[in-house]
Amino acid sequence: MASKSPKRSYKFDPWLDPKNRPYIRIENVSKEFDGTMAVNNLSLSIYQGEFFSILGGSGCGKTTLLRMLAGFETPTSGKIYIDDIDMTTTPPYERPVNMMFQSYALFPHMSVGQNVAFGLKQEKLPKAEIKERVEGVLDLVQMSAFINRMPHQLSGGQRQRVALARSLVKQPKLLLLDEPLASLDKKLKERTQLELVTIQERVGITFIMVSHDQEESMTMSTRIAVMNEGQIKQVGPPHEIYEFPNSRFVADFIGSINMFEGIILEDASDHVIIQSDSMPSELCISHSATIPPGASVTVGVRPEKVKISKMSHGKPDVSYNYTSGIVDDIEYLGDVSIYHVLTANGRRILATLPNLVRLTEQPVTWEDKVYLYWQPENGIVLTV
Ligand code: ATP
Repeated sequence: MASKSPKRSYKFDPWLDPKNRPYIRIENVSKEFDGTMAVNNLSLSIYQGEFFSILGGSGCGKTTLLRMLAGFETPTSGKIYIDDIDMTTTPPYERPVNMMFQSYALFPHMSVGQNVAFGLKQEKLPKAEIKERVEGVLDLVQMSAFINRMPHQLSGGQRQRVALARSLVKQPKLLLLDEPLASLDKKLKERTQLELVTIQERVGITFIMVSHDQEESMTMSTRIAVMNEGQIKQVGPPHEIYEFPNSRFVADFIGSINMFEGIILEDASDHVIIQSDSMPSELCISHSATIPPGASVTVGVRPEKVKISKMSHGKPDVSYNYTSGIVDDIEYLGDVSIYHVLTANGRRILATLPNLVRLTEQPVTWEDKVYLYWQPENGIVLTV
């Protein structure tokens, strides 16, 4: 996966200014179900206007965390503050929160307009206000023309937009989205991701989305929290999580990465030299690791940072970060191809190359003997 930056139209980083107060504060929250710690002493701050993603594998506790924010579950311990008010035990209907579920759960016997109006009618708002708000929100999600259609007459993407309209019409301050795009096909998903971000920017509501789709989180979010076993492993903007993972777990979970176990030979202020049994050359990384020589570490390098050249063209002019091998497989993905190179000691290293020409015209092909190499600024030292 290539590194992506969020498709936002303006700079937005309130978490960098310590003067800003978070809109949501989750403090040391745990949730235990019959001996299972679904969420384990988790703390997190989220700022107003963020499109925040909670990303993690199946069973890591992300839905439980979202349900505690919505009020459908009560923490076993810890506190949840929304807008500085302790909401830990506040019931869902008294929170300024709405939740959009995985299944859009539109009422099948109601039209689009009736589905969107439902919550407002329950609040017994005046008819004129309901009409105005329903029309306004359908306009926002570009579904005005479908106001009289029944849910079964809509496509998946259109149903998703109606569900979003139904969530937004109640003007929550916080919208929780549980895998909102899970049922859409790839193309529609990509389009809807953009639409969701645009809508979120326009309404200015804080969105918290649970997802196990990393590309989706990378594309849409202001920040991502990567979760594992009920805890947060790293929080940061997408590019930071991708380029500077803080652990082997995050590096491996987000995108794909080549990892090399090694021992620190030298740690200077601007570089580290590492010896790895998997590499004929020493590894050089252009940042300090601040750990003593002799310590065991892992070096990570993303496949798109690895360069590949035919051995017949001679060894690349580098002193560090190179190895050689044979092209064992090529995964053709249209825009890029992933070259699987087997080294003499049996390591499989991945290198992603853009398909600037057709695959059959690429200079490197199956069974070619190649050099692989990368620049010191493209590696990262992982210590945990
Ligand atoms: P997925 O992506 O599969 O939906 P998730 O990250 O959202 O997973 P959760 O649904 O939060 O995970 O579940 C976390 C853990 O808590 C799992 O081990 C799950 O089995 C357990 N769990 C969740 N809800 C309950 C419950 N009501 N009773 C008992 N155990 C539960």
